[in-house]
Amino acid sequence: MSCIAENIKKIDDELPQGVRLVAVSKFHPIEKLKEAYEAGQRIFGENHVQELVAKAPQMPDDVEWHFIGHLQSNKVKALIPYVKLIHSIDSLKLLQCVNKEAAKAGRIVDVLLQLHVAKEETKFGLSCEDCVELAKSGAIESMKNVRVCGVMGMATNTDDEGEVRKEFNEIRQVFDKLKTEHFASAEYFSEVSMGMSGDYHIAIEEGSTMVRIGTSVFGPREY
Ligand SMILES: *Cc1c(COP(=O)(O)O)cnc(C)c1O
Repeated sequence: MSCIAENIKKIDDELPQGVRLVAVSKFHPIEKLKEAYEAGQRIFGENHVQELVAKAPQMPDDVEWHFIGHLQSNKVKALIPYVKLIHSIDSLKLLQCVNKEAAKAGRIVDVLLQLHVAKEETKFGLSCEDCVELAKSGAIESMKNVRVCGVMGMATNTDDEGEVRKEFNEIRQVFDKLKTEHFASAEYFSEVSMGMSGDYHIAIEEGSTMVRIGTSVFGPREY
């Protein structure tokens, strides 16, 4: 078995039922993605539109492409034909833009609301309050070409396990609140995307349904 295949198997064996692996393939050459595909991996995550758009036609049609990076409005149109799930909606304006471009393309695009809970200022996302306000506002219901399927977030990059756990718990709590108060009858509102190579075990314990793992699948990235 190849190294990538072994890594995927090891992670898959650790994932409880209902938790899916997004193999984060950013900066890795297409050969490595093909190895992962051969090993049965079907969900791939990228964080640059150009890279995703370049790789998608080189992979089989049953690959699910997830966009996990900061998304600029002027790149949305190019992404729409390929993307299955956008994890990184961090403003109402971006959500409206995705809705508009999806409508033009005759599609309904699945998205997650990205929450900012980490201590680093560099990480994008809505505050928990803004996210709840957005759900309350009724703006989401009026957009017919996006389907809000849950939330996504990143924890602070720290060795302090308690802090990481607290942040993941916060993300899960926002999900639960939105689910109860605004999406109770929406079966599709079911995803909590959290956990990366360094912290996915904690994320799973705190209720993740989707882990986004790059390094532990493909090895270190070559920038
Ligand atoms: C790169 C990236 C990951 C994967 O990080 P690893 O530490 O390599 O597992 C997960 N989520 C996001 C948003 C990323 O940009």
